[in-house]
Amino acid sequence: MLVVQKYGGTSVGTLERIEEVAKRVIETKKAGNDVVVVVSAMSGVTNKLIEYAEYFTKEAPCSKDMDMLLSAGERVTSALLAIALNEKGYPAISMSGRAAGIVTDDSHTKARIINIDSTNMRNELDSGKIVVVAGFQGVSEDGFVTTLGRGGSDLSAVAVAGALSADVCEIYTDVDGVYTTDPRIEPKAKKLDRISYDEMLELASMGAKVLQNRSVELAKKLNVNLVTRSSFNNNEGTLITGEANMENNMEQALISGIALDKNQARVTLRGVVDRPGVAASIFKKLAEKNINVDMIIQNTSHEDGTTSLGFTVPQNEMEAARSVVEGTAKSVEIDSDVVKVSVVGVGMKSHSGVASLAFSTLANEGINIQMISTSEIKISMIVAAKYGELAVRALHKAYELDI
Ligand code: ADP
Ligand code: ASP
Ligand code: MG
Repeated sequence: MLVVQKYGGTSVGTLERIEEVAKRVIETKKAGNDVVVVVSAMSGVTNKLIEYAEYFTKEAPCSKDMDMLLSAGERVTSALLAIALNEKGYPAISMSGRAAGIVTDDSHTKARIINIDSTNMRNELDSGKIVVVAGFQGVSEDGFVTTLGRGGSDLSAVAVAGALSADVCEIYTDVDGVYTTDPRIEPKAKKLDRISYDEMLELASMGAKVLQNRSVELAKKLNVNLVTRSSFNNNEGTLITGEANMENNMEQALISGIALDKNQARVTLRGVVDRPGVAASIFKKLAEKNINVDMIIQNTSHEDGTTSLGFTVPQNEMEAARSVVEGTAKSVEIDSDVVKVSVVGVGMKSHSGVASLAFSTLANEGINIQMISTSEIKISMIVAAKYGELAVRALHKAYELDI
């Protein structure tokens, strides 16, 4: 078998932890598998590097320089793990994203993978080596280092697994798998044995950072079998798979999970001229700047022919959003003291009353809902940040996920 294993920040957080990871990798190799390991930076390192840059500038630094800086974290871990493996008698080689052939576009700090030339990885595997790839990074077509967005080592792992047609892609982290909600917020959360790509994609996109959303999207596209499990024990993890593999799961619940996204900011534009094309031009400009707009609400028109427009963006894009929308309205207000709480489940497609239960649950807790958006399998609500965790626990109970 060809196994891709990805180890997240906490799993490689200290030198001792890297040694433990080396042992786990060796077990997999000894069982007769070819092994490619994808590693994150040691926990806290990426944030520390961002802080270093902030020492020099409060403005957003040049994104090419940021990528040079941030990609260093993963290079350190990959080199150390390869050194540890070699020392234990198991030939290994570390590779940067570039050496691993990961070519991306040039959207620095959130680049998309265009292609993987797996020649180097294949040659080293064929010579019997364990390949250790620095996650989270690639190289643009003109040769500059790029990074794939926060949590992007998950994406590296899935992309490498796809390029090598690996039999399985195991994502090792600090919890036993995917739970009905973040077990750090609700200790009664239950681990799921399986979850479909679509539900996992919604949960991840709505803030469940156990998997990066783009990695789930790619796993679905390339049909990569993903398993999330802990690097701290041998418990069975969660299989993320196609819906076809979910059918014989008799206990398929109505709701699979609740997610909390703290990286949200609400932008409100007041006094926007209410005529055709105005909203289009505002959102076009935001899209051109690569700003991810999520929920949008437009109020009914006022008597003076203006309206107000509200939308959410990730917090780290709110200043960029401000400069884009400045001048398009009488006033621009940004509130980053909000969070998004989402209820996700494919069972929603065939059941009614799912949304009303969410609204009444929050009402009973005295939590005001500022914005709502829904899809076929998800309901999301923006609430004041201080109520986020309370909302998660109340919804988890209301949908009987703790039973
Ligand atoms: P890594 O560094 O291994 O990539 P992350 O911190 O990115 O790990 O993701 C793991 C964390 O995701 C867990 O510690 C947990 O707090 C959080 N998390 C959020 N939602 C969920 C969920 N539904 N199931 C499991 N973990 C979750
Ligand atoms: N180190 C990067 C981050 O913290 C990538 C990752 O861990 O997946 O976002
Ligand atoms: Mg992660």
